[in-house]
Amino acid sequence: MVSVVWLTHDLRLHDHAAFAQAARAKRPIVAVYATQFSHPTYQKNEAPLKAAARLHALHDLKQQLDVYQIPLMYVDAPASQALDQVDQLFGIDTVYGHYHAAPYERYEALKIQKAYPLELYESATLIHPNDLPFDVERTPNGYTSFRKKVEKLWVVRDLILYDLSVQTPMEHAFSLPPVDVNDFILTPGETAGLKRLDYYTFQSKKASTYKKTRNGMKNLDDSTKFSMYLAHGALSPRMIYHTVKAYEKAHGSDENTYWIIFELLWRDYFKWQARKHLNTFFHKDGIQQKRIDWIKDDSRLQAIQTGTTGYPLIDANIKELLATGYMSNRGRQNVASFWTKNLGLDWRLGEAFFEKHLIDYDVESNTGNWQYVTGIGNDSMPFRYFDVIKQGERYDAHESYLLKWLPELKKVTTGTRYRWPRMAPSERHAYALDYPDPIVDFYASLEVMKKRVGA
Ligand SMILES: Cc1cc2nc3c(=O)[nH]c(=O)nc-3n(C[C@H](O)[C@H](O)[C@H](O)COP(=O)(O)OP(=O)(O)OC[C@H]3O[C@@H](n4cnc5c(N)ncnc54)[C@H](O)[C@@H]3O)c2cc1C
Repeated sequence: MVSVVWLTHDLRLHDHAAFAQAARAKRPIVAVYATQFSHPTYQKNEAPLKAAARLHALHDLKQQLDVYQIPLMYVDAPASQALDQVDQLFGIDTVYGHYHAAPYERYEALKIQKAYPLELYESATLIHPNDLPFDVERTPNGYTSFRKKVEKLWVVRDLILYDLSVQTPMEHAFSLPPVDVNDFILTPGETAGLKRLDYYTFQSKKASTYKKTRNGMKNLDDSTKFSMYLAHGALSPRMIYHTVKAYEKAHGSDENTYWIIFELLWRDYFKWQARKHLNTFFHKDGIQQKRIDWIKDDSRLQAIQTGTTGYPLIDANIKELLATGYMSNRGRQNVASFWTKNLGLDWRLGEAFFEKHLIDYDVESNTGNWQYVTGIGNDSMPFRYFDVIKQGERYDAHESYLLKWLPELKKVTTGTRYRWPRMAPSERHAYALDYPDPIVDFYASLEVMKKRVGA
């Protein structure tokens, strides 16, 4: 009989409750990773780069598990099916995994539980749910009130430490498909994640300038990029927290180091919101249950998905996402605002588009943020929107980010490029560029959506 560690968003060895419990059980361990879910509405939605990043993280974990002779079984099928195979081969005593509130993960866990003893642990968040100063079902809806309550009590548990012993090799061999893409802005996986954490704190001391640079779009170190590792679970949020705290001890704490944790808490917040609202959190009308009459227009959808809206900030960010699988927080906010408030397209199309391409895709953060910007989630402002022209001028004053992704705008007079949609058509056409006219008028499109939203 074997213990199974059912891997999901926890592709690491450090701070891993499921491996720790399996190690304590002292039976041979088989790790299982399944790329699909059994839920009837589940559809695989991922760009090749995103899939390759996850596979890369799995290869990294496999290398580490090889040291202990722990096999990693990879299946392009739901976990419940994979476990049946493991059971036939070895017999399953207990399955160990981590709890996730998202519907597909919950459904899969229920399915597994019907066939095998299943023990799920909490590890996705910085704060353990038992240490929250309220029941999860009573998580405050507003972030500020949530944060203030959490910060008053502030318990972050120590990292889980455990020993894995070297196993007798199993007769059955398992392999991972090769990764045929290696074009990542940061190498995925735990080994590179721990290096990135060390780099951003102790090595480069970028943590001490984070608050000043975090809104930047161009440079790798403007923000931490920990999301690329958190999404796969290659870094645990507690590992980040304790490293930042150690860094503060050595180099001093200030608003910059505080702000890294402040942002990490947003991630927790959306996870608790998902757990509080369950299926409503993922509902098309959002947690506010606000019905919006969305515009159905394939040409608009096509334009934004290819970065050809004629709004440079939006197009540059989409080009970056398609090429790298990453977009800055500033970019995401502007794109989501333009998508829903100017183009009037359903937020769920945007959510799915991000899901397909973002290497750091996290179901709760993505859904929660899309709903927030759309105005059907936790933000109570009636019709908040971003002026995507002013935002470009403010956060990319030298237009270097813009030119990186839209070199075709080089000929346009410096300092005016973000204003492309506000130029007179004759001025735009005089440049004779292969770049589109704006797809909508900025203010007129806002008025249309204000009416449709009822603001
Ligand atoms: C429409 C939209 C969709 C988003 N989708 C995702 C997603 O799928 N996955 C994801 O991880 N983040 C998502 N975010 C949040 C945020 O944009 C990213 O976490 C951030 O850009 C990642 O880069 P970073 O690690 O350098 O962030 P940093 O600025 O360095 O922040 C540190 C960490 O704090 C957390 N964090 C920061 N901002 C947020 C936020 N607004 N919500 C939740 N957590 C946050 C992340 O874990 C991040 O790694 C989304 C935001 C928007 C507006």
